[in-house]
Amino acid sequence: MSSHNTNTKGSGSEHITWDLESVFPGGSDSVEYEKFRADIKKDLESAKVEISQLPKRLSSANRHSWADFIVKMQEMMSRIRHAYGFAECLISQNVNDARGHQINGEMSFYLAEYQNLMVGVEAFAKAQTDEEWQKLLADEKLQDAEYYLNEMRRIARMKMLPEYESLATELAVNGYHAWNRLYDKVYGDLRVQFDEKGESRELSLGQLAIKMSSPDRAIRRQAFEKLEEAWNRVADWMAMVLNSQAGFRLTLYKRREWDSVLLEPILKSRMKEETLEAMWGAVCRGLPRLKEYIAAKKKLLGIDQFKWYDQVAPVGQVDRKISFAEAGDLIVERINTFSRKQAEFSRMALDRRWIEAEDRPGKAGGGYCTTLDMVKESRIFMTYGDTFTDLSTLAHELGHAYHQHLIRDNSPFAKAYPMTLAETASLFNELLIVDGALGSAEGDDEKLMMMDLKLRNALIKFCNLHARFIFDKSFYEERKTGIIGRTRLDELMVNAQKEAFGGMLEGDDAYHPLFWASKLHFYLTGTPFYNYPYTFGFLFATGVYNLARREGPEFAMKYEALLADTGRMSCEDLAMKHLGTDLTGDDFWNRAVNMALEDVDEFVKLAG
Ligand SMILES: [Zn+2]
Repeated sequence: MSSHNTNTKGSGSEHITWDLESVFPGGSDSVEYEKFRADIKKDLESAKVEISQLPKRLSSANRHSWADFIVKMQEMMSRIRHAYGFAECLISQNVNDARGHQINGEMSFYLAEYQNLMVGVEAFAKAQTDEEWQKLLADEKLQDAEYYLNEMRRIARMKMLPEYESLATELAVNGYHAWNRLYDKVYGDLRVQFDEKGESRELSLGQLAIKMSSPDRAIRRQAFEKLEEAWNRVADWMAMVLNSQAGFRLTLYKRREWDSVLLEPILKSRMKEETLEAMWGAVCRGLPRLKEYIAAKKKLLGIDQFKWYDQVAPVGQVDRKISFAEAGDLIVERINTFSRKQAEFSRMALDRRWIEAEDRPGKAGGGYCTTLDMVKESRIFMTYGDTFTDLSTLAHELGHAYHQHLIRDNSPFAKAYPMTLAETASLFNELLIVDGALGSAEGDDEKLMMMDLKLRNALIKFCNLHARFIFDKSFYEERKTGIIGRTRLDELMVNAQKEAFGGMLEGDDAYHPLFWASKLHFYLTGTPFYNYPYTFGFLFATGVYNLARREGPEFAMKYEALLADTGRMSCEDLAMKHLGTDLTGDDFWNRAVNMALEDVDEFVKLAG
């Protein structure tokens, strides 16, 4: 076939590599990069001396010294982020870059040093009177970081004495977080024998995960059974891991006198518990509509019971191959219908080679967008394979890049947005793209595929992630009374799935009891309850997109202002200020849920 190939461009992503040379020439051997890191090291050392010499109590005489020190800490954060981001680029473009890995390790050490210094700043903040603290924040240099600094002080005051907190942080490295690393190790080592086309092959769990979205149900079922079987082998150990890390957290909370297990995640995501309740309430009200979608999808798949392994089964299809260049043009064109400014930015990112998309061996998996603070640029990493999903990923990452672009001049502390808002611009772009594609879809098959992509996404965000949330909540409550055995964990998990899916999963074998073991998110000690932020981000972006569609290009300015403020206020204040909506109420969420499910009728019709 290749001799008749008339496509002169060749494979769609060939030679689409990014420009790192303009940042630091010479890759991991760069002399400039080395100097940059050496300066960070030196300045961290001197900051350590400086903070120990600063007066412990604020007064008019020393206020400016503290303000200067905090500014210096912010600059340090930018520099570390810049150097760290670059290291990340190096090792993802070539997983065998040994020097790059070494630099990456060096950077994590600097980051820890930096965090230690910030513990000192927290202790200082906690010790000041409200009046003195406010006077410090009135300093012009700190104004943009006001929210961050107040939040830091507020949380520090909810914690134990600084010396206890720092002991806990140090012990966590080899205790609490070690459980997370052990989990990662087990996950990485597990293998299964997979039978396909008369052959038996050994697969990693990552490879197995891909089989879960096979159009062939027998393959999906086998993948699911092999997954359960693999985790069953180690389930007793994993129960120990989960119990231990939860025990660590609960002890810490008890010492801090924190009653709710949700407090830490809620603080991290800068939102109120009422908002979370309002969001899940709206999700539950959307379940009947989702059931209509599942009923239609069952017809398309030719199955009579919907099981766990049918969640991401594909329907419909797109035969068209889309080259990288075409994808870029399509994305820019589509974004241009909403915002010329954003379209021009995206074109610039493509033209100036901010994107590494080539499909070649030796690259890391996955995709991300990282910001290089000191040059105020972003870099996107992905592997482009000519499919619609790849196009969508490219649009997603370009959304992140635009978000980073809009906050590039914020003070460094005002760039730190919570995970709940991190996906606003990326998912907004995805919606823009899939809606555009739906509008120009050729034939019912392509339309079905696009709609299914959207609705499948809603199913995961509404049910799958809700099940994880319900499990986490009930598990942590019960864990307060003692160790939870493996059988009980299975039971809690099945109950959570029954509740969250509201009867959509059918039959006794429809559930995934060992989901508490197979899903790495339950083990992320750095981010407890890393489930609802996905649902929040999805619905928030959907809600924002809904307004964009209603108000048209006029909304673009509001959208930009909203994104620029994501590191400066709570989720509720952000929504109130820029959208005039109250996130603790039902309205915004109801509308977002309805919009996420707006294609159900059309999907049901086409499926029939
Ligand atoms: Zn993202």
